[in-house]
Parts: sequence; structure tokens; C-alpha cells
Amino acid sequence: MSYVKALRCKECEALYPIEPRTVCDHDFGPVEVAFDYEKARGRVTRASIEGGPRSLWRYKDLLPIEGQPRAGLRSGFTPLIRADKLAAELGVKELYIKDDSTNYPTFSYKDRVVAVALTKAIEFGFDTVGCASTGNLAHSVAAHAAAAGLRAFVMIPHDLEEGKMVGMSVFGPRVVKIRGNYDDVNRLCSQIADKYNWAIVNVNLRPFYTEGAKTHGFEIAEQMGWKLPRHTVVPVAGGTILPKVWKAYQEFITLGLVEDNKPAMYAAQAAGCNPVVQAIEQGLDLFKPQKPQTIAKSIAIGNPADGYYVIKVVRESGGHGASSSDAEIIDAIKLLARTEGIFTEPAGGTTLACAIKLIQSGRIPRDESICVCITGNGLKTVEVMAGQFTATPVINAKMTEFEQLVNEINETAKTSTQSVNS
Ligand SMILES: [Zn+2]
Repeated sequence: MSYVKALRCKECEALYPIEPRTVCDHDFGPVEVAFDYEKARGRVTRASIEGGPRSLWRYKDLLPIEGQPRAGLRSGFTPLIRADKLAAELGVKELYIKDDSTNYPTFSYKDRVVAVALTKAIEFGFDTVGCASTGNLAHSVAAHAAAAGLRAFVMIPHDLEEGKMVGMSVFGPRVVKIRGNYDDVNRLCSQIADKYNWAIVNVNLRPFYTEGAKTHGFEIAEQMGWKLPRHTVVPVAGGTILPKVWKAYQEFITLGLVEDNKPAMYAAQAAGCNPVVQAIEQGLDLFKPQKPQTIAKSIAIGNPADGYYVIKVVRESGGHGASSSDAEIIDAIKLLARTEGIFTEPAGGTTLACAIKLIQSGRIPRDESICVCITGNGLKTVEVMAGQFTATPVINAKMTEFEQLVNEINETAKTSTQSVNS
């Protein structure tokens, strides 16, 4: 059953009915879905969740839909990996990777928010959906809209990676490239949502869309064995996921499903686009918008819609922020691949690189549980890894040539071990 009460302004707490709406009429504060936790307590239990489907819809009671799910029926419930090899490299005791690079069907955390937003769009009776996107969201909206039989318009910055174009176009949406950066695209999308009666998932369906991000946090808690990590490192683009993972943790605490271990939240951004982290480091409540300049294009949002709330949650939770250079992002992508067999996109590299910095600086203690949130897949952005690897040998199809090659490889390995030991 649904425990949704109303939409509530995050600033003045004014209540609104459940309708497509982004901001409060009084103060233009963002509205958020409010739930009736009193009613849910004792009814939403570990057992009721464990009895649900192996998808994000096992948390349906804490999502803002009225009827049955209508999109993303197989999305979510991605692996949580105890990353012992990576933990050993970093010198920490208990490290987890929440791996949304495997999310279904488009390999990023966006399949969570879109599953909820499109279900809501269908409930509201929209026939056209859309989004402003840096790539991953466009993939997800296009795929889920195709499966749900909705018309889709996806609006993207003109300079998006070529690989990302294919991953959206194949599903047959109307793709519109807009000259400018993500923030220009987003501004236009607000006007589009006003002018046409379309569901722009991250604009006029934003309150419902963002609730879908909670499922990333619910899963972390459930998959850790109904416990919260003491420290959670999350990438910040528009600022949706970090406050919602926090909200998920708080909801589970409120419902008595996990113990309150005072979970701390940490924001990760690329150095070439770090408005939120800069504000956190300078102790400010408000961030200064930036012009993004980074290889981490999926998180290159210079004016994050929910940046203010990221800063607030990070501060309230006792966390912090860090940013990493393009070179550090590449190194972290390679480290995660080499130690845990996970290939993430630059956003994930950013998150791991920032987690490393927070550990090295002592902000995150080495002997407490840490979760690093990986939100996207590296196969979508292979061009950023160009030139990162040694030349691949080419031989004739002869065993003698292969044997010679293996001998050479073994010799090189021996010399490099010797030089490390000497
Ligand atoms: Zn208000």
C-alpha cells in the first residue's frame, strides 16, 4: 500500500496535492514527497521487503506510486560487493562497492529514478516523456519509454561523447542536441515542460523521480545485512542521489529496520566541476555555479539543482567533500578494474578517487565501514581511456611465436619483481 501523504515544500513545509510540480508557490523552494511513517511503522518490515521482487520495487511501499509499477520492472537490486582486494590496497578494514554499473537495462543508477518517474508519468496520464541529460539519463528515459510505449524527447548538450549517442538513439527517441552546456539544456527543459504538457522527468516530475534514488540507499542497508555503512561516498552532479541515499538511511532508521550508527555522507566531484565541494570546504551554505571543464561529463553540472541540499546533508551528517583531477579519475578507474574487476565511467572514477583522498587525509577513518557508490558503466565512455594501455602484441598463428611472447612476458615480470624487491 502507499504511505504517501502529500508534496511538501522543503523550505516552508507548505503542503500540496500529489501532482506534477517542482517548486512551492510561496517561496519557490523545491517540493518533496512526504510519507506517513507512523502508518508505515510495523507494516513495512524487513520481512515484507525481503518478500518482494528482486528489483527496486521491493521498496514500493516507500516510493511515491499509487498502483502497480509500470516501468523498470527489472531495475535495481544491483550487487553490493565487499571489496577486500581494493580495501587491502587502500589500507582500510571494511570497504563496499555499491555497483550500479550493472543496473538494468541501461547500466547506470538512472534506471532507478526513471522507473519511478515513468510509472508516475503513466499514473498522471502523460503520453510524452523527456529529460535534460548528460547521457545516462537519456539512455534510461529512451529505453524505459520504448518499453512502456511512451513517446520520448531527450535533450542533451551538443558535445556529448559519441558512444553515448548510440546508447540513446537505438531506442528511437527524439534526440535534440542543444548548443551549450547541461545547465543551458536544463533551463530550456523547464520552459518546454511549461509550454507542452509533457513529463520532463527531472523537471516537472522531479519530486517523484528523485525518490527513486532512495532505492540505492535502501539496497546498501539491506545488502549489508540490515546495517548502515558508517561512511558513504557519493558522486554529486545535479545533487539528487546523495540527499536521497541519506533520506533512505533515515527512513530505515525511523521505521526501526536498521540501527542509527550516525552515517556520514561524503560528496565527490571532479576538480573541473566542483561547486558543491568548494562550498563544503569553505564552510559556505551556498555554492557558486561553475563552467564545467572535466572528462567526467556525466557529472559535469555547474549549477546543481539540489546542490544546496547536498551541502546541508553532508554538514548535518558530519561528512565532508573532496574533488579529484582528471588524471586521478583515470587512475581510480584503473585501480577499481584491476582490484575488483569493475569497469566504471569517469563519474565512478571520481567517487573512488575522492574516497581515497578522504581516507588519506584522515577524514574517513581506516577502521570503520565505508561504502563507495559506483553509478555508471565504463563501457559507455571508452574514449576517455584511449592511450592508457601498452601496445597490444600481434603475432602470426604459430605456437612458436606465442611461446616466445609468453617467455618475454615472464622475463619482464621477473625483472620488474626484482627491481621492486631490490
Ligand atoms: Zn515553500
